[in-house]
Formats: sequence, structure tokens, C-alpha cells
Amino acid sequence: MINFIDIDHVDKVYPLENGDRYIALKNIDFCIQQGEFVSLIGHSGCGKSTLLNIIAGLDRATSGGVILEGREIKQPGPDRMVVFQNYSLLPWKTVRQNIALAVNAALKDKPQAERDALIEEHIHLVGLTAAADKRPGELSGGMKQRVAIARALALRPKVLLLDEPFGALDALTRGNLQEQLMRICNEHQLTCVMVTHDVDEALLLSDRIVMLTNGPAAQIGQILDVPIPRPRQRLEVVNHPSYYSLRNEMIYFLNQQKRVARRKQQVAPKVAVSGQGLEKVSLDIGFIPLTDCAPLVVAKEKGLFQKYGLEQVNLVRQPSWKAIAQDTLSGRLDAAQMVAGMPLALTLGIHNATPLPVVTALTLSRNGNAITFAKRFYDQGIRSLTDFKQYLEQTPDKRHTLGMVHPASMHNLILRYWLAAADIDPDVDVDLTVIPPAQMFANLKAGNIDGYCVGEPWNSRAVQEGIGFVMATDLDIWNGHCEKVLGVRESWANENPQTHLALVKALLEACEYCDDHRNREDILQLLARPEYVGTDPAWMRPGFIDAYHTGTAAEPQKLINYNQFFVNKTNCPDPVEGLWMMTQLARWGIVPFPRNWSEILQRVRRVDVFDQAIRDLGEPHLLRDRTPIRLVDGTVFNPDDPLQYLHSLAIKRDYNVQEINIDVAQEVAA
Ligand code: ADP
Ligand code: MG
Repeated sequence: MINFIDIDHVDKVYPLENGDRYIALKNIDFCIQQGEFVSLIGHSGCGKSTLLNIIAGLDRATSGGVILEGREIKQPGPDRMVVFQNYSLLPWKTVRQNIALAVNAALKDKPQAERDALIEEHIHLVGLTAAADKRPGELSGGMKQRVAIARALALRPKVLLLDEPFGALDALTRGNLQEQLMRICNEHQLTCVMVTHDVDEALLLSDRIVMLTNGPAAQIGQILDVPIPRPRQRLEVVNHPSYYSLRNEMIYFLNQQKRVARRKQQVAPKVAVSGQGLEKVSLDIGFIPLTDCAPLVVAKEKGLFQKYGLEQVNLVRQPSWKAIAQDTLSGRLDAAQMVAGMPLALTLGIHNATPLPVVTALTLSRNGNAITFAKRFYDQGIRSLTDFKQYLEQTPDKRHTLGMVHPASMHNLILRYWLAAADIDPDVDVDLTVIPPAQMFANLKAGNIDGYCVGEPWNSRAVQEGIGFVMATDLDIWNGHCEKVLGVRESWANENPQTHLALVKALLEACEYCDDHRNREDILQLLARPEYVGTDPAWMRPGFIDAYHTGTAAEPQKLINYNQFFVNKTNCPDPVEGLWMMTQLARWGIVPFPRNWSEILQRVRRVDVFDQAIRDLGEPHLLRDRTPIRLVDGTVFNPDDPLQYLHSLAIKRDYNVQEINIDVAQEVAA
């Protein structure tokens, strides 16, 4: 389908008088189809008018742009008419003259008789025939707004843009005008974009409602489809089965935004100290000895921490992800490499633990995991997931145990997803158990477990020592999934904003270095040192440098981006994938699904900090789009309806959906 209007990665930055800049809109990206009615809703000052004005051509995007029927919008034009709240009529001209002024100017190529007919038609259309010779001073607010609408429509625009058009009118007048507008839109198949802060108005008129988060750097928080058939009658709309849930969804979203704004105000003013304005220059950062700890090692060994003013960074090798979590929460660590879902899970409270907010502003790596089974399965002909499923059915009395590294890790979520996609219930048909990465191999070798999902070098070690074979890599399941992230306590991020930013920048530069395959031999030497991964470099080579061997008859394959650190917008703390992780964490009963998911995402996945870092580094293109995720089994995860998605999953536990109020939880705990 060709999009009628394509709002393509729009940023709007205003220069301020004091030399600073105000980022009003950040990465606004969505499309509008012909004949569609779209509302923009969000709190005052979030950037609704700014966006509408960019579509109108009255203002330009700072980066990105708007395309209408294949042409970029660079200036206003008669194909896009705007109706503002304050009518903007000439007070000394009559209704007819006000409309005629616009028509005669814009359609001067048409014969006068045709223009006159258009003028009369539109006066009639909005029911003002009797008032056609009156001046604005003699008209009510509702009538003036009708003149403005008639004037806009008389030019036969392709797009009607409305900025809170009925905001200043009393309820009865507003209701009448809404109905007129609806009728006109239907009759003329108009494409409309309307800014409003009235949820009922949005529901009555719209096909879709785009909800913006609060500024600065306002983004699309969620897009609601309004599946109410047209033509609509107000009462039918209100009585439609989805009306109240849609309305609640909007109000809920707006309330979450209010809370986000309040919390931002509460964060203490920042006092910068030391050399480059950093609050803290000596840091302890936790990591797990795995191939994908490379960015941390590179940042330290190549002097990148120092380059960004972090004079003394101590990399603390940790025995397990659990230890990483504990030492982060206790404050022993300033920051840590974490498995992807850990900041969300700690913030929500894993298995009913007290929620403690942990944030991530940087994804350190993608992919890099595999699912290894003991070699004896291979020898028995069990070589694929389908084989395994059959085998489970044939041997119902046998139990099988698979290892994974942490409940909130992608290893757990992906392993479970993969099993469930083949109709294997990961809690009923097999047993999953948490084992630290470095102990996986020994447990498989000892026969304590039948297989595992883990990062490297632990799959390749099993292959090279003939203990196991790789049944699938994560590239087979979700190529490009978020793997390791930089996590810090939220309170730490609030107390050390400049240090946090410096850390993100240093690691981002390290990630770029790590993705350059020309550097890989050098990085391998660093990783092999005893204080880092400390294993045989041969186990780290497959996938990182060399072709990947699965320990089967298959030829070793060059895997593109098995260890992905920078390319394809690796590093953005993408909220959409965070939302997917929350659905999976809830699916398996690890945390409840937060009713206030949009608030939690904004709080935990700090796109704002990442955005600041990439702008400072001059790489603003590294943000990710808000697009659905396509998983390997063909399902699409739509970020606008996570509950529906969760509900649609066949295999799942009894999950909870509840509002998670972290601040209250912390007070109770204190
Ligand atoms: P909304 O219509 O959602 O209430 P606006 O689009 O009018 O919000 O404004 C979005 C933000 O951009 C506001 O914080 C506003 O103060 C700021 N803004 C708008 N125009 C300018 C400008 N010319 N210079 C600086 N800031 C501006
Ligand atoms: Mg406005």
C-alpha cells in the first residue's frame, strides 16, 4: 500500500535564547491513509501543534520530513488547509467575503461563476446561509468556527488539519460541530488530522488516535485503532462495546504521562563536579566473562572510558547474573553489563521481590546465543526441535532439564518462546533451571542437564569438545534481538547524570570498535586474558571471527552479525522490544504485566539519555523506529496492543495485569 501521508522520522528542535536547544519532537514516524481521520492527543505542550504545523508546511522539521503523495511538504499549500482554534477571520468582512477572499486567491484560475458557486455551497454546507452577510462580531463562537471550516473546505483540500478546533466552544455547540464535521468528512472522503485534548471527541471522530508522550523529545507512546464502523452516530459510538475500554486506555495513558512529568520535576537539580563536569569519575562496573563483554573490555583497554572523563574504571568480574543484580541493587557496583530483561524485571520485582528501579540507556550487544543439546540426542537422531517434540511424546516418563542463565535473560525468554512455538510447554514438558554461564558446560558434561541456552564461548566449547551440538542459534529464532544492556540503578542515574552520559558515550564508541571485524583478532587477545573471559581463544572464534560450527554434519557457516555490537542500530534502548520482553516475563509468571507499561518503559529504557549521547557524538541516526517485531514463527508483535498479544499466546501461565507503582513499593519497603 502506498501511504498518502508519510510522517518520516520527524524531529523538531527549537533554538532557545540562552543558546540551549529545546527538543520538542523526537523521531515521530507514522503514516496516514487517504480518507483516514487521525487524532493527535497528548498533554499541553507536548508538541501536537508543532507536528500539525509541520504537516501543514507552516513549520519545517529539523530532521526527517513529511511526504504527501510522494512529494515532500516544504511550505503551505491549498491542498492542506488548517483550521485553528481562534478562527482567524477578518472582522470587517462578512461570512461570504471571508470565504470569498480565500477562494478567489487560491482558485483564481477557475471562472468566477464556479468560484461563487463553491462559496455558496460551502456556506450552505455548514448551515450559515442565513448569516452569510453578517460580520464575525455578530456571530457566536460556533458560527465563527463554522466559517473557518467552510473557508478551509471550499478550497477542496486533500487534507484538513484541525488544531483543537472546538476547544473554545460550549459543549452543545461543540457537539453539533463535531457531527457536522463527521458528516462532511464522510461525504467528501477527506483525510483529516486533528489535534485535540478531548478523549471523547477523539473517539467519536477518529479512525486512529496517536498518543504522544510528554516533551521534551515527545514521541509516539501508543497508537489506538478505533474499530467503530462509519457512518457514526454519537450514541452508537458511546454504546459500542469497545468505547469504554478505548476511553480508559487513553485516560490511562494520559495519567501515566502526568506521573512521568511529576517524577521528572522531583529529581533533584544536578550539581556537576570534577574535571569534565562529571559527578563521579571512579566507577566499578560488573561484567560476566562471555564473548559479548567485549565493549566493556575494549572501553577500558583502549582508553575510551578515560577519553570521556571516567578516569578510573574498575571492571568487576562476577560469577553470575544473580550476583550482578544483587551488587547493583546494593550499590556495590555503579553499573553493570546485564541480560536484556534485567532492568525491567528488577524494576517490576522478579517473583514478587521488592521492585527497585533500574534503568538502561544503552544496548551493548545483540544475538550471540545458541541452544545446545547433549551429543547423545544427536546420536539418537534427535536433531531438530520437531524431533525433540516427538521424542518427548514417545517417552512421557522421562524428564529433561535445560539450563538458562537468568529468569530475565533473553536465553530464558527465547528458549521458552522457541519451545512453546513447537507446542512444548517449557514448565510442564521439560524442566528449566538457572545455571551461571561459566558452569553450563560442566553441568552438561556431567550429565546434570540435557541442554542449555547460553552465550559464547559455552556453545562452541561443547561443540569442540564433542559434548554437545547446537540445535539452533538465536539467529534462527530472532535475528537482531536485544542481548546485553548497560544497567544502573535509577537513583544512581539521577545522582550522576553526566557520568551516566559519559559512560554511555564511551561504551557506544567501544561498541563501534567491536563491530569492526578488522579489530576482532585484537579484541580476542584482550578477551582471552585471565581477568576477562580467561578461556581458550579457540572457543571464542566461531561466530566472532570464524565460521560457526554446530557440531553436526552441516558445513560450518559464516554467521553475519552473530556477535552484533553496533550495526543495524544495535545500541538504542528500544522501547518496543522492552515491551515484548515484558509480555514474555508476564507470560511465564516472572513479573506481573504492568497495566502502566508505557510509564514503565519510559522510566526503564532511557531513550532520552541515549538520544543525548548520540547527538553529542553527532550520530543522531542511531535511534530505532517504533515498528512491530516480526518473530521467526511468523507472529507479529504489535506494540500498540501488548495485552491482546499476551492474551493470544497459546502456552502461558496465569499472568497478572496490574498497575505497578514503584515509588509506593519502595516506601513500603523502606
Ligand atoms: P501542544 O500543541 O502539544 O500544546 P506545541 O506544539 O505548541 O504543544 O509546543 C511544543 C513545545 O515546543 C512546547 O514546550 C513549546 O513551549 C515549545 N515551542 C513551541 N514553539 C517554540 C518556539 N518557537 N521556540 C521554542 N520553543 C517552542
Ligand atoms: Mg497546541
